[in-house]
Amino acid sequence: MKRFAHMSPDSLAAATAALRDTGAAPVGGGSDLLGMIKDDLAAPDRLVRLTQLSGLDTIAPRPGGGVQVGGMITLSALSRHPVIRDRYAVLAEAAGSVGTPQIRNAGTLAGNLTQRPWCWYFRQGFPCYKHGGTRCFSRTGENQFNAILGGGPSFIVHPSDTAPALVALDAQIHIVGDAGDRWLPIREFFVLPSEDVSRENVLRPGEIVTELALPPRPGARSVYTKVRDREAWTHAVVSTAVVLTLDDDGDDPGVCRRAAIALGGVAPIPWRVAAVERLLVGKRLTPELAAAAGAAAVEGARALARNRYKISLVSETLRRSLLSLT
Ligand SMILES: Cc1cc2nc3c(=O)[nH]c(=O)nc-3n(C[C@H](O)[C@H](O)[C@H](O)COP(=O)(O)OP(=O)(O)OC[C@H]3O[C@@H](n4cnc5c(N)ncnc54)[C@H](O)[C@@H]3O)c2cc1C
Repeated sequence: MKRFAHMSPDSLAAATAALRDTGAAPVGGGSDLLGMIKDDLAAPDRLVRLTQLSGLDTIAPRPGGGVQVGGMITLSALSRHPVIRDRYAVLAEAAGSVGTPQIRNAGTLAGNLTQRPWCWYFRQGFPCYKHGGTRCFSRTGENQFNAILGGGPSFIVHPSDTAPALVALDAQIHIVGDAGDRWLPIREFFVLPSEDVSRENVLRPGEIVTELALPPRPGARSVYTKVRDREAWTHAVVSTAVVLTLDDDGDDPGVCRRAAIALGGVAPIPWRVAAVERLLVGKRLTPELAAAAGAAAVEGARALARNRYKISLVSETLRRSLLSLT
């Protein structure tokens, strides 16, 4: 493990200035980055700690509705917050499903969105695309947990549990760097390997995630469903984040007025399924429609040698998630 320096700036301006150095890296809870450093998979000269910056770990109402969530909030605080549990259950459930209590107590929302891939080959230090190499070892190797949608040339899956929830909520993400700041729709934050295989998001060197904005979703119901290969301590094999607005009364109770769905564990980015959303809107959510939606979610999926099971798994998980909201 390479030696590194550690600093705790007392303002956002000082943090972004410190991150101008090419050898500097931001750190939240360190639950991903410190493991990478110990395994010689990352070698920053200096860690710039962000968790002590004031105002970046809070949840506050936004003018005009919705809420603002600080990027440095821990996953456990996020999952327990009454407003998030009440109005954005999909996000509370996603945050509460991460790893273990220890990881959720240390891990931050921003770190969760920017964690590196957990593909075996990447984490074992194979010279794959993500390490600057020229091949994806999972394409023909141990690809049980790799992508069935949107893969190529790398077949990683995006590891974050909160990312599909935030995509289904149409969140906005705030990015700050030494040269300025910008807000982006969260779905524009993630980068497919076919666009740039070296990175998973649009952050430029030295930029950090400071906040997320959640739009108001009056009357919406939502759910995050995560399938794992064991009960805890691990990422999703597949997951579904569903946000629906159903007519509760009137002539047509149960008719879907709005649907937003993103899949996790199946693609290098959280995978929004717009065709499924269109299929649901304007119809009553029956068991038959839920099954059709599950099938539509995997249209175009292409399994690798060892992950065909994911196609039926994600289809069935989505069917059940939809019905759980009726
Ligand atoms: C055993 C184990 C199980 C896990 N299980 C899950 C799981 O089930 N689901 C899941 O989603 N994750 C899981 N993780 C991954 C990860 O630890 C957590 O997701 C956690 O939220 C990461 O947050 P952190 O603050 O600790 O990130 P850090 O380790 O501090 O940082 C992670 C990365 O993000 C960058 N970064 C940190 N903060 C910022 C910022 N504000 N702006 C820009 N970049 C930033 C760092 O430079 C680093 O590259 C697991 C990890 C372990 C070790």
